[in-house]
Amino acid sequence: MMLENPVRFIKGVGEKRARILSKLGIEKAGDLLFHFPRRWEDRRHFKKIGELVDGEKATILGKVVDAESTITPRGLVIVKAVIDDISGVAYLTWFNQPYMKKRFKALKGKKVVAYGTVKRNRWGVEIENPEWEEVEEGENSLHLGRIVPIYPLTEGISQIQMRKIIYNALEQFAPCLEEVIPSRIREKRGLMPIYQAIREIHFPSSARSLSEARRRLVYEEFFLLQVILALRQKEYKEEKGRSLEFDVFSELEKILPFKLTNAQRRVIEEVARDMREGHPMNRLIQGDVGSGKTIVALAAILIAVRCGYQCALMAPTEILAEQHFIVLSNLLFPLGVKITLLVGGLSQKEKNLAKKLVAEGETDLVIGTHALLEEDVEFKNLGLVIIDEQHRFGVIQRAKLRQKGINPEVLVMTATPIPRTLALTVYGDLDVSVIDELPPGRQPVKTFWVPKSRRKWAYSFVREEIKKGRQAYAVCPLIEESEKLQAEAAEKLASDLAHLLPDVKIGLLHGQMRPKEKEEVMNQFRERKIDLLVSTPVIEVGIDVPNATVMVIEDADRFGLAQLHQLRGRVGRGEYQSYCILIATPRTEEAKRRLQVMVETNDGFRIAEEDLAIRGPGEFFGTRQHGLPDLKLANIIKDVKILEEAREDGMQIIEIDPHLRLPEHRLLAKKIKERFGDTIEMLDIG
Ligand code: ADP
Ligand code: MG
Repeated sequence: MMLENPVRFIKGVGEKRARILSKLGIEKAGDLLFHFPRRWEDRRHFKKIGELVDGEKATILGKVVDAESTITPRGLVIVKAVIDDISGVAYLTWFNQPYMKKRFKALKGKKVVAYGTVKRNRWGVEIENPEWEEVEEGENSLHLGRIVPIYPLTEGISQIQMRKIIYNALEQFAPCLEEVIPSRIREKRGLMPIYQAIREIHFPSSARSLSEARRRLVYEEFFLLQVILALRQKEYKEEKGRSLEFDVFSELEKILPFKLTNAQRRVIEEVARDMREGHPMNRLIQGDVGSGKTIVALAAILIAVRCGYQCALMAPTEILAEQHFIVLSNLLFPLGVKITLLVGGLSQKEKNLAKKLVAEGETDLVIGTHALLEEDVEFKNLGLVIIDEQHRFGVIQRAKLRQKGINPEVLVMTATPIPRTLALTVYGDLDVSVIDELPPGRQPVKTFWVPKSRRKWAYSFVREEIKKGRQAYAVCPLIEESEKLQAEAAEKLASDLAHLLPDVKIGLLHGQMRPKEKEEVMNQFRERKIDLLVSTPVIEVGIDVPNATVMVIEDADRFGLAQLHQLRGRVGRGEYQSYCILIATPRTEEAKRRLQVMVETNDGFRIAEEDLAIRGPGEFFGTRQHGLPDLKLANIIKDVKILEEAREDGMQIIEIDPHLRLPEHRLLAKKIKERFGDTIEMLDIG
């Protein structure tokens, strides 16, 4: 296969360049074709220097007149090259790159293209730290008179060289590209052939065809992903599961102190239906903080236990696991359901006992943290797996827990209100239920942002609320470097506040405490023996004390939006008006915007969209382990429409040809194996 040839055999590459290219992840000839430009420059018409406007981004073409350097009294070297295009002259400026003077002196009389942000003042026109290249004129020039690709580079290779190499690779290999998208779909969506799309993305013949090429390639990225997700979903559905049937609503009615919301009722019905059908459930429950997801978990647990199966509930932190343990024990104990806690902080002896109970089937429900994933945790007959706050775990962990049973039912829950598009991209293999309603009587939390200088005011507000019989949280600044420093920060805040609020009962909670101690503190807080709980950001997830009405977050600008929203979700859970006070004197615009968003809205979905917009999808989801695929061109925010088309087509293909065995899907099956083979469980395709 030509595209598989090592890149060193391409014209203009060779051993040395091959090593440089490998730093960009380019190993094979085919990789070059998919090394996409990071932007394009329209060099069919250049801006005239004389007409440049201050602040605009522009590309200019001119002759090098001269280059000079100066040194400021502070020792900064400034090099300025003078470029002339007849309409005027412009200075190209570099700082502390003295060698630029020599380079430009050598270019005297030659033409260069430069790109950057224009500064225009009474001294003239200037571009600081421009991107630039010497132009090579000639017939059929790659570098002038057309829309020119600008590539991501690495040291040792120039823009011009890269352009030539890729051009050569295109000449040689573009005809070898195979069409992965079935022609039926290409026609339906009006997508250009792959070889044309690849050519046009590198060397567009017009702006229009560039955008069409991009659409085709974005579609392909999404399409492959959606096909694999559809395959996985199909596969789950074909697996033989069990048929679990139990009238859960009448049992819930007996034990719940409140009525289910309509949304909860609907979602529980969906869950019960999944469990009744003979295939394993794979469902994601999405619901904003406080929407009552725990009850849905409870319903699933009841069904499984009543049908004679064990359940595992995994939470991301010990505190949350312990809380689930307390809440669910209270509800399930009267029904005779046996529950075990298994977290890392238990003593070895306690852990061994817990594992024994699970293995021998002496427990119906085990609640724990990552500790549940350990090799020696074995079940007698695991029938249901629940993962709370799914966004904290990766796909791999989900699969690991799942493998402890034989095709168990799987329920994952998340409070991170994932924008729909992202959900399709990342959780496309799960069915999704949304709890889009809060329990009655909840009032939106009022959020204030106060500068550090008004910190005292914030705590006098806390004191007032406590006087009224309410409780409060204070979260110490976020320190990412170490758990230990984080614990110290909480201790420091607690002792600060003890001085500031001598009449208030203060408790402390951090990750370095033993599970027993943490449990003790949480219990005291629940029983109102503590008024103000000072904590590290660990309480971010899940904690539920309805009498708490104030959440104070110190140095709130250090937190991400999702975290802030989660923290705020700890209050506003009861009948009382609740407040969130963000103490922050932010330095960056981005931090200011985050705080502003918090003040403006309580809507988890809007916050997630903003978060995604501010941070971009990669960071939004943490790392690759969350299963977010590598999308080179596609942008999951801007390209939603294409994503949705790809989703529709991907699902349809799997509907028609569940194992991709039709001749017209042969290449698709091959490509999917290539692309995803090592990251997914083996699929029966092709
Ligand atoms: P989350 O979705 O954030 O996990 P929880 O399950 O912890 O939310 O529920 C939040 C709070 O709302 C808990 O105190 C819970 O008892 C209460 N709750 C849940 N469902 C209802 C309901 N239908 N009516 C009243 N309160 C409810
Ligand atoms: Mg929860």
